[in-house]
Amino acid sequence: MQLASLLEKMKMDYLVLQLDSLCEQASKKDLGYKEFLSEALQTEWKGRHQKGVESRLKMARFPWVKSIEQFDFSFQPSIDRKVIRELSGLGFVDRAENVIILGPPGVGKTHMAIALGVKAVEEGHKVLFLTLESLITRLIRARAENRIERQLQLFAYPKVLIIDEMGYLPMNREEAGLFFRLLTRRYERASLIITSNKSFVDWGEIFNDQVLATAILDRLLHHCTTLNIKGESYRLKEKRKAGLLGGANKPVDKTTEQH
Ligand code: ADP
Ligand code: MG
Repeated sequence: MQLASLLEKMKMDYLVLQLDSLCEQASKKDLGYKEFLSEALQTEWKGRHQKGVESRLKMARFPWVKSIEQFDFSFQPSIDRKVIRELSGLGFVDRAENVIILGPPGVGKTHMAIALGVKAVEEGHKVLFLTLESLITRLIRARAENRIERQLQLFAYPKVLIIDEMGYLPMNREEAGLFFRLLTRRYERASLIITSNKSFVDWGEIFNDQVLATAILDRLLHHCTTLNIKGESYRLKEKRKAGLLGGANKPVDKTTEQH
């Protein structure tokens, strides 16, 4: 069989594309057989890996993509970099542990959640990003359409589920109950990353039910790293820099915050 059709049958698409230049380089560098084979297979592997990353990034539905390297830690000294380094190693994903990121608006909670999600995508994990609002809307719609089991299964499936903006909207009993069912499905099987502007003591308000809130927190916090970001809003800093807000001591107009 000819090399070209062999590579085609083996679906070595990336190697096919680069074969000529690889051969040329190999002869220039006077590579041995094994070295050449290794380079050729690496070319194929890198291409496949990159394609996988791109497709998982799409499936993750991140609203925007930011990395940990793009996070300015000097602006948020309350964040322990050791913890971030540990989280970036993704041991929490392998151990199906959770991460909860707390803090006021603009301190980088969503940025950090997305950055960890991107790391997980790069390591081959399936990730899904949702705001709490869209998660609940989809659960409620699924229940109304008699396909709640299937929907819960879909949300239980990704290795990392990011739920952004817990706490902006309170849930009613039915919504909190559905959220609890999802949590039970994922418990000790897959990781959650949750961001919230409310501290744990105020979570009773979110769920409108102290007993349910306690049961939810119990499962969430059992294996969990909590990042409590206490600093100033990065959005406001940028606006201030642009001269939109005046001096640092001026009262902040909350309506200018976007969540
Ligand atoms: P939150 O979710 O806490 O409200 P975001 O993560 O949405 O805040 O951050 C708001 C904007 O500011 C985003 O564009 C984010 O990338 C940026 N940002 C926040 N904190 C930092 C930081 N420490 N370094 C760099 N960019 C940051
Ligand atoms: Mg946010």
